[in-house]
Amino acid sequence: MLASAMGRAWIELNMDNLRHNYGVLRKLLPDTCQIMPAVKANAYGHGAVPIARELNAIGVRAFCTASVQEGAELRSSGIVGEILILGYTHPEDFCLLRKYRLTQTVLDAEYAGALEGFGEKIHVHIAIDTGMHRLGERSENIENILKIFQCKNLIIDGMYTHLCASDIMEEPYIDYTRKQIRAFYKVAERIKAEGYRCPKLHIQSSYGVLNYRNLNCDYARTGIALYGLLSTREDTENCAADLLPVLSLKARVSAVKELKAGEAAGYGLQFVAPHDMKIALLSIGYADGVPRSLSCGGGNVLIAGRKAPIIGRICMDQMTVDVTGIPEVRQNDIAVIIGSSGDEKISAGEIAEQADTITNEVLSRMGVRVNRICVSENQLKSQAV
Ligand SMILES: *Cc1c(COP(=O)(O)O)cnc(C)c1O
Repeated sequence: MLASAMGRAWIELNMDNLRHNYGVLRKLLPDTCQIMPAVKANAYGHGAVPIARELNAIGVRAFCTASVQEGAELRSSGIVGEILILGYTHPEDFCLLRKYRLTQTVLDAEYAGALEGFGEKIHVHIAIDTGMHRLGERSENIENILKIFQCKNLIIDGMYTHLCASDIMEEPYIDYTRKQIRAFYKVAERIKAEGYRCPKLHIQSSYGVLNYRNLNCDYARTGIALYGLLSTREDTENCAADLLPVLSLKARVSAVKELKAGEAAGYGLQFVAPHDMKIALLSIGYADGVPRSLSCGGGNVLIAGRKAPIIGRICMDQMTVDVTGIPEVRQNDIAVIIGSSGDEKISAGEIAEQADTITNEVLSRMGVRVNRICVSENQLKSQAV
């Protein structure tokens, strides 16, 4: 069953590593602070439903997504607990918030008015802008924030802000982050002083948990670190916390062929064989999440524990690698795009570096047609490639 589920290209989710990362992050935080995993963008490409299901099974009872549709998908799949929508929901979709028991972010005072106007009770968290200048009512506009607390139809369960420089542990970024944190707590104090019950507070995402761990919060919204990575290869390799990657990306060798010296391969004749060689076609392409910028020598894949350089242009559904140095390769063999094979390893951080982006983007662009397969250690050993 496992074999047929793999098909042409697939993602393996190492759920042991997910549980491990959860434990590591949990230990960094005060006992009173719960982890609210960010499972937006299909759980950073991993697959929102299998990831949230696994986290539900180990007791996680709060999640955040970007859109109401993502929240509804989780709820329809039986995910329990609070599901917070971090982003914009169109007023026509407010009914979905109630139907799927979702919690909406109050984007600012004006949006609070729209939510209030819906006429039915809606659970919300209020976003406070403390300096990122993305979503949230400005922390200085305390009168506007107090107005949100007066809305009769809003059940205010939480209030949060987002740090925009918590990944850079240098001045002036540390100072800026501390100012954001102070501005947020000042709002919370004022709310209490005005006689309102203080809702649950949250500030940190992954870097916030790692670099500013001793805040007095009820939740930490962790995404990338829970998946065992940080945004760059360098940060991931230098991270003091013992995080393990959850995702591996694999595909089948769909064909192996000989290329004579001087013959070209792929679109635009971009690769011309410098000598007689052997090439392998892989049944995975940029629509599956392999960045096209890795074309023409921009990266490698692993086959039978050895590196096979990418040659020619990566296509939508296929790509070509040089397997001259791996004579035993056969059709139907497995190629590892992200993950390990023998003693070799290619990390998402390495791919991100080669593609001139961050791991978050590489992961969140994993294609929808790639099967997600949950594996645990025992299974991994029995199907070692
Ligand atoms: C995506 C997101 C997070 C999670 O960020 P990571 O850096 O992946 O931990 C937290 N909060 C907000 C508001 C987000 O948009």
